[in-house]
This record gives sequence, structure tokens and C-alpha cells, in this order.
Amino acid sequence: LKFNELNISDEILRAIEDMGFEEPTPIQQLSIPLIMSGIDVTGQAQTGTGKTAAFAIPVIEKIDSDNCHVQAIVLSPTRELTIQIAEEFNRLLKYRRDVRVIPIYGGQPIERQISALNKGVQVIIGTPGRVMDHLKRGTLKLSGVSTIVLDEADQMLDMGFKEDLEDILQYTPGDRQTILFSATMPKPILKISKAFQKNPEFLKL
Ligand code: AMP
Repeated sequence: LKFNELNISDEILRAIEDMGFEEPTPIQQLSIPLIMSGIDVTGQAQTGTGKTAAFAIPVIEKIDSDNCHVQAIVLSPTRELTIQIAEEFNRLLKYRRDVRVIPIYGGQPIERQISALNKGVQVIIGTPGRVMDHLKRGTLKLSGVSTIVLDEADQMLDMGFKEDLEDILQYTPGDRQTILFSATMPKPILKISKAFQKNPEFLKL
């Protein structure tokens, strides 16, 4: 399968070409159509497999750019990964200036994040602790979220974010799409999947 056989819009295809991606990786070939179809997906994939674009491309394609509310949120364990994911989204959005993405992580001045949030963003990439902080302050609303991605879920649990994850999921609508990526699938991850996903399709790469 080629990128142009995956129902990806012309602007995103052009950006993918500029990024130098010639062919979708195996995880991208499987997950792009599944995520676009709206179902829940659980992917066991390591870093380096192209998993970021595997969820970023379909998440972008599902954003309604006429609506400036937060529609998608990606949770990631660390500040470094959060920044990397936001950069990958922004590279994919090179020809789409109507979709705004911001990273939200601890250690960055909260006031600056609040003013960025107030400008209207459709996609948030964040670490669980800082996202929870904004939810408690009321500076971030997730009631319009249609897709949530838990990236490196095993690492988020190892870092003690289980409660934050569960709380954040409760702030999102029950009919959302839930995507979970994890390098390993220990019992606690399967429990999160069971509690928060609906008939997920399991992909193992
Ligand atoms: P990730 O697994 O998402 O951390 O991606 C690993 C690296 O592969 C990143 O530098 C991506 O930009 C790159 N990458 C992702 N998809 C492709 C692709 N289809 N072809 C070539 N490189 C890719």
C-alpha cells in the first residue's frame, strides 16, 4: 500500500513527500485506515516504527478545522516525546495552516500555555500531570474531544501517571475514539484498554 492509497488529503500527502517518507511503514499501513474509520485501536509498537505518523495522520484528517475547540488529545510520558510528537504534527500540517497543535508539559510557564490555549487549538499533545493541572484550573476543556491517543502507555504507567490518565479520560466524552500505543502489553495496560476502549482492534508489529 502506498500513501496515496490511504485516503489521505493532498495537502498532507505533499507534506509527507517533503518529509522524505516514500512508503508507509507496516504500522502506518494498518493503523491509518483503522483510525480513520473511527474504531478504537490498540497498537503494540516500538519507537522507530513510524508510530507517531501512524496516529498523527488520521487524527489530523479527522479534525474539523471550522471548529476551534480541542478535538484531539495525545498523552505522552515525557516532555521530550511531547515536543517530538508536536513537531511531527506540525511537519505534517505544513500545508494546512487551519489546524493548530500545541504541546503542554510541566516545567514550562503555565501562563504562556494558558494564553496559547485561549487562542483556540484543535490538537493538544501533553504530559498527564500538566494536562491534569489545566483541567483542574479550568483552563483546558476536553468536552469536545472526539479522539484521545495514549502514546507509550506502558511508560506512562511506569512513571506513576495511572490515576492522571484515568482522570483525564473521565473529562472526555464517552463516545470518543480511544487509541492506545505501547511497546509492551502487561496486565495493567490491558486493564486500561478494557476499561476505556470499546472493542479495540489489536495490532502487533
Ligand atoms: P517514530 O516511530 O514515530 O518515532 O518514527 C521514527 C522515525 O521515522 C521518525 O524520524 C519519523 O519521522 C520517521 N518516519 C515515520 N514514518 C516514516 C516513513 N513512512 N518513511 C520514512 N521515515 C518515516
